[in-house]
Amino acid sequence: MRDFQTTPPNLHEAEPIPEAAREAIDALLSSGDLFRYTAPADAPVALLEREFAQMMGTKYALAVSSCSAALFLSLKSLSLPEKAKVLIPAFTFAAVPSAVVHAGMTPVLVDVGMNYRIDLADFERKISDADAVLISHMRGHTSDMDAILTLAEAHNLPVIEDAAHSLGTLWKDRKIGTMGHVGCFSFQSYKMINAGEGGIMITDDPDLAARAIIMSGAYEHNWQKHDIAYEKASQWQNKLPLYNLRMQNLSACVIRPQLAELPRRVRDGLENHDHVADRLTESGYFNVPAPLPSETRAPDSIQFNLIDFSEAEARAFLSFAKENGVPAQVFGLGTDNARAFWNWEFIEGDTPNLPQTRAMLAQACDVRLPVRLKREELDFVASALIDAAIMVKG
Ligand SMILES: *Cc1c(COP(=O)(O)O)cnc(C)c1O
Repeated sequence: MRDFQTTPPNLHEAEPIPEAAREAIDALLSSGDLFRYTAPADAPVALLEREFAQMMGTKYALAVSSCSAALFLSLKSLSLPEKAKVLIPAFTFAAVPSAVVHAGMTPVLVDVGMNYRIDLADFERKISDADAVLISHMRGHTSDMDAILTLAEAHNLPVIEDAAHSLGTLWKDRKIGTMGHVGCFSFQSYKMINAGEGGIMITDDPDLAARAIIMSGAYEHNWQKHDIAYEKASQWQNKLPLYNLRMQNLSACVIRPQLAELPRRVRDGLENHDHVADRLTESGYFNVPAPLPSETRAPDSIQFNLIDFSEAEARAFLSFAKENGVPAQVFGLGTDNARAFWNWEFIEGDTPNLPQTRAMLAQACDVRLPVRLKREELDFVASALIDAAIMVKG
């Protein structure tokens, strides 16, 4: 116990931005050239798009203001029918059904199991009446992509991957976010790459990319500054509305040097997660759902289910954990939690009946584990949670 950490780690403290960002930002501050379309070529945002597409092995990348903007533009770029029905998992962040509503479409919620992944029976029931599929890999948990892509293909439906929180995750040897027609990622501060805000979408479909580029705000002939076949974007000139969801150069300068850090962050994040998961599992109070066999995760947080806790016990557990220095949430117990589907009152119609998701949200606990945490800090987190459970259950 010599190295035992006695003060709680700050679970919201980010890793410093790599030093290399400083020079690029200084140059921008001197020139004042913050807008992506001022420079004739090779603006930082354009370089980021090129590097991100290369890293992911896709043809096109479009950097935008958030992952929500990327999801919105993806939906808008797919040529879906008016009021299209879009399947989304019932366990996701409120921004996801919001993007569907914003695009003038209808979110249809699919039940999610105790392992945080889409219930395939419910998915199969609902897909025959759907127009598109938007898979949120919530907290980086991957649903069965083989089954989902097979069913979507059988119904001839496009698949959007919300990989906001899945950068670095693999499905067999394929990168999550490259398996659907389009993949969307977030650079918000709590994701693997931190720019405060930001997002990017990737696709191999030149027409989808061209439409998204125009709608993101490439007005007049600014589409010429994208690495994309000119004739594709020129076809859409003046034909599509401009939503102005562009990324600015400062964000790209913060993001670009972090791309090289990704393999280390993914490796540390997984190792940290698995260490805490092992300790929580051993305690007997918690169930940490295993990844699917095809999945290699890239977590920066941990989710686990309380075993046989009543609601009162779950609430007591959360307050003891907080007293012990570790803020945790049970998704379904908070007031106005943005990840509890019954709070998405902006969706038209009655709250759907989703018994499995409801049961999961009542037991599923969420704790941030920033990848920079050291072993002693991880042990502090695990011990604080286990002690809190002992205080409740004896
Ligand atoms: C963070 C997150 C989003 C939203 O990303 P923004 O960049 O903040 O718009 C969407 N979906 C999931 C699964 C997320 O984790």
